Amino acid sequence: MTTIRQLHAREVLDSRGRPTVEVEAWSTSGACGRAIVPSGASTGRHEAVELRDGDFARHAGRGVLRAVAHVDVEIHAALAGLDADDQSEVDRVLIALDGTPNRARLGANAVLGASLAVAQLAASARREELYEHLNRLWRHGLDPALDPDPAMPMPMVNMISGGLHAGGNLDIQDVLYIPIAATSTRTALEATAAVYHELGSMLRSARYDVLVGDEGGFGPRLSSNTAAIAWLERAGRAVGLFPGVGLGIAVDVASSHFYDPAKSRYTLGVDSSAPLDADHMIERLADWTRRFAVVSIEDGLAEDDWAGWTRLTARLGRNVQLIGDDLFTTNVERIRRGIAERAGNAVLIKLNQVGTLSETLDAIRTARAAGLRTIVSARSGETEDAAIADLAVATAAGQIKIGSITRSERLAKYNRLLRIEERLGAASRFRRWVDVCRTAPRQ
Ligand code: PGA
Ligand code: ZN
Repeated sequence: MTTIRQLHAREVLDSRGRPTVEVEAWSTSGACGRAIVPSGASTGRHEAVELRDGDFARHAGRGVLRAVAHVDVEIHAALAGLDADDQSEVDRVLIALDGTPNRARLGANAVLGASLAVAQLAASARREELYEHLNRLWRHGLDPALDPDPAMPMPMVNMISGGLHAGGNLDIQDVLYIPIAATSTRTALEATAAVYHELGSMLRSARYDVLVGDEGGFGPRLSSNTAAIAWLERAGRAVGLFPGVGLGIAVDVASSHFYDPAKSRYTLGVDSSAPLDADHMIERLADWTRRFAVVSIEDGLAEDDWAGWTRLTARLGRNVQLIGDDLFTTNVERIRRGIAERAGNAVLIKLNQVGTLSETLDAIRTARAAGLRTIVSARSGETEDAAIADLAVATAAGQIKIGSITRSERLAKYNRLLRIEERLGAASRFRRWVDVCRTAPRQ
């Protein structure tokens, strides 16, 4: 037993220079765990609520001193004396203390900071690596068919950024590279670095602006969304990686932000096409999968377009990974609805969309039990906290999405994966793309 003595929070800055919550949890024996909460820009409507001060005298209203105070006073009082090893009890108390369905009172940033700091404390008190502790939580009572052992995830890596993450003109948010021939994290990153640098020099030679977006992907002003996918494919070919053999492409369309719910239309501004209804949008996505090595599409349709998602999944779900991010928001109820309505075949997992570690583990279990793939994901606003690397390994999530391979808030996670892979050695069980594909995407 590791008795919690104190929780203490402070306001720190994230990779966009915006305030976020850092929490330290201390045990009676003097052990300490620390966690920093990330923050999204293209947040889904159904996410747990991040509490911001709204005091425009500081950080343009984005300060988090109220969330910090909630940790120092109410959350500290509720958790002191509890056992840090009992994460589900800690999270149950946090959820009850908040008392809202979406963590709006205390703030999901306060609640998640506390939840993760307690997990870090439990690991540090036992002198364990975080992934070992998280794996114990993951496998507790788990159906052995759901893969209880740790496994290294296949990364999908941001190469070109658009949407709300970059100053360019693209509507789609990310074009990502999947190193489908990789057999380890090390070889995955080798191939990724080759593609990234080649893409950079090709864009530079073609006189495009190669400033990077929030996640470190290039943010050029291109003539169309399709051009961004074509550029990545060209860069892959230039370093000897061909579609289906070493080159897989994922697209995070993040379509909710260019969807008009009143008119049920999707507007791809840079393509200057007429607004598309869901079926025409599905045809646009299908066209990308026909013409390019696109094997994964995230948020291809909007967060509440359930009927469209069902048609999209029937149309492409047999061969293409269809990930719900804003659609599911790591929320068990929404994942269940997706299962019932055959909407999507993969779930993006973001801790701060739901607010506690236990609810996140439940979301992964629910998805996995229904044969949906899981992809643990960073946010566009990140920090040096690398816990998502441990979470992806501990739950054998299969895939991880961190952003580009530049910018240290991203590298903190990639480099953490390299350390874990070395430590696991022969037990690292890297999920090759063929292993990922063994979870047949549902139609
Ligand atoms: P966000 O972007 O963190 O800004 O929401 C990440 C994503 O959409 O996957
Ligand atoms: Zn997304």
